[in-house]
Amino acid sequence: MIYGRQFKVARDEDGNHDSAGVVREAPWVAVPQVVTAVRVLERLSGDHDGLLFAAEVHDPRDTERRIGRSLAIATMSNRVEDFTEWVNTYARSRGRQAEVIPPDPHGRVGTGRFRRTLAWHIARRPGGLVALAVQYGHMRTLISQGYGSRTRGGIHDLLDFETARTVAEHLSEVHEAIQGGYGVSGPAARRLIHAAAQEHHRFGGMIATVKQARRLLADPTLNVFENKEAFLFCNYDRSKALCHPGRGGKTEAPSLDRCRSNCANIARTDQQARQLREAAGSLRQQADSRLVPEPLADRLRERAETLSELADKHDADRVTTG
Ligand code: SF4
Repeated sequence: MIYGRQFKVARDEDGNHDSAGVVREAPWVAVPQVVTAVRVLERLSGDHDGLLFAAEVHDPRDTERRIGRSLAIATMSNRVEDFTEWVNTYARSRGRQAEVIPPDPHGRVGTGRFRRTLAWHIARRPGGLVALAVQYGHMRTLISQGYGSRTRGGIHDLLDFETARTVAEHLSEVHEAIQGGYGVSGPAARRLIHAAAQEHHRFGGMIATVKQARRLLADPTLNVFENKEAFLFCNYDRSKALCHPGRGGKTEAPSLDRCRSNCANIARTDQQARQLREAAGSLRQQADSRLVPEPLADRLRERAETLSELADKHDADRVTTG
């Protein structure tokens, strides 16, 4: 847990701005890598109570004037550039050209876009939108106002934007695959085909503004979420969702981490069926290793069998638009 102070909203009992800040009510829940990074920063500064990015430690120009200050935004932006350069040198020195970060046509990345990039990656993981809200410290807002709330800027705009962009990208990919003769299966197959065609017609896979994001999210037929862990698309219809114990409630988003294989919102593409077979193959390979204890090997084989059955069912039920 990382505890910190916040300054922007800090007020004393008379309502005056408190320049010393107040301890943030909700701490950040961090992964171990973040904790290690914080420890390294503390050791660099040699001061456990001071600022993590103290200017006098990290940018020792004109130290006297900078005591007690944090690194300036411009310096942080330069560090982001340096980081990109470091990644590229590292990737090239190991012959990993594909991992080189290309020059950005929109100029320098800066702190704002770096934050958005991190958000993009977090949002695209299963349960990522909730993780994003936690990471950016707006969990309470998210819970109290629900996913569907459009009344506040900030985190809601960010969540809306990232959600809509992911949905649009996935639906356009599905549309192209269907046009290319690939098939779709599952109780929600026809809904997925329709959603993919609609999205392609209205947005072309590109969400560039928050306004567009809201338009897409406001259309219930386009509420389609990829569940990578379960190799399926959830065509979210709240009344049919099996992941919410109290169905008919107010939840505006599926709980992908509690996805049920018999839900009527499921659709699966040929690509996901192929991924199911690949995952099954990989599990069988692990189970055959002499290093794996027998009870674990049995469980791996069982899971592989379930995945193969899902892929077989897809092959038997798939429909194409042709
Ligand atoms: S159970 Fe799965 S498919 Fe059904 S609504 Fe929940 S996440 Fe979507």
